[in-house]
Amino acid sequence: MEQIIGFFCKLAFLSAVGIATTSGLDIPEGFEYDKKGYVAYCPCMGRFGNQADHFLGALAFAKGLDRTLILPPWVEYEYMKPSSSQIPFDKYFQVEPLKKFHRVITMEKFMKEIAPVIWPPGERTGICYVFRDNGKCPMKEGNPFGPFWDNFKIEFDNHRSYQPLSYSTQYSNIKEKWHEVFPVSTYPVLAFSGAPAAFPVNAENRKLHIFLQWSNFINSEAEDFIAKELSDGPFVGVHLRRGSDFKKACEHATSGQQFFASPQCLGSNNEHGKMSYELCYPDRQMIAKQLKTIIKKIKATAVYVATDHNPSLKELKTDLKGTKVKIIQRTPSEPHVDLAILGRSDHYIGNCVSSFSAFAKRERDAANKPSSFWYFDMKKPKNIDSNKTEL
Ligand code: GDP
Repeated sequence: MEQIIGFFCKLAFLSAVGIATTSGLDIPEGFEYDKKGYVAYCPCMGRFGNQADHFLGALAFAKGLDRTLILPPWVEYEYMKPSSSQIPFDKYFQVEPLKKFHRVITMEKFMKEIAPVIWPPGERTGICYVFRDNGKCPMKEGNPFGPFWDNFKIEFDNHRSYQPLSYSTQYSNIKEKWHEVFPVSTYPVLAFSGAPAAFPVNAENRKLHIFLQWSNFINSEAEDFIAKELSDGPFVGVHLRRGSDFKKACEHATSGQQFFASPQCLGSNNEHGKMSYELCYPDRQMIAKQLKTIIKKIKATAVYVATDHNPSLKELKTDLKGTKVKIIQRTPSEPHVDLAILGRSDHYIGNCVSSFSAFAKRERDAANKPSSFWYFDMKKPKNIDSNKTEL
């Protein structure tokens, strides 16, 4: 009886605040959609590496709630362009392999085919953790938030905070609590202001990377380059994250604390070592020494360099003078193709603090390919393969 009273109280509350339920929507008979609901979010934090970390967490979250994940476009920032650009998810990644793990749909397809019926204008609730003073979520405040939702002409009519719920749906009752606070009948779409996920990605979600597979376009760019330039023998792929933004950030690296993607080598509680400036921004001598060790070990004929700092390539050529390897970069450099080439190298060395580096490391772990980290693995010469780091 109490439950029935509760149900009617809830209905009265919902109609009072003006939130419609899907049962109040005019859904044509036979219209196909996920009756368990959807999760949408803006990948509004950071650039590609950050967004990819968040993506894996959001995928796990959607699976945990048993709602379809709406695949958001990637948010990109072009030099001197005031607004961000939204790049369809499937330009860089295939959609089908993700479906082996969980139900997904691209945001373009969802907005065109599903949203007009189950999430029409006037019925859209934005969800965030902390409200602004006006009692609303900052869904569209600033760049990239505004341009992201504007890309699909989305306005929010209602706002809800999800405090104190967490994204970790694997823990007891969390899933049930989400369903209780956000029932699918009222919230067919949970539209988050940011990714419903942790940064960096939780260790248990790294393995989901196996479902994230490059699009045919990126694969063929990478394969063409390798066939043309790197087919003489084994090659080492290196990521040199050396730009001035990163150098400055590294000055704040403090021992004993997690720093950006550092759990990928140090572990979630620094159980594998301590954070340091050198781990974040290794010096040239260290880079050359570590690289020479690997070149010798795998009898490499070439080194593929992906970097955000072009002088690093020149420096590397100087520092490796005397070795016979070809040192090569793809120009103009494109982040996703760089990563796809790093993923295919015979050995990979990345930066433990960089989430961009982390992308290639996870892809290689999924394929059982050897990787190491600058400085971290040099300090442990017997363990030059970081495949054994926490998964
Ligand atoms: P993080 O800051 O290293 O954790 O990684 P993010 O991906 O979040 O931001 C760094 C951004 O710098 C990347 O998304 C790229 O746009 C750029 N970048 C960094 N390293 C490279 C690289 O090796 N090649 C290219 N093309 N871009 C890079």
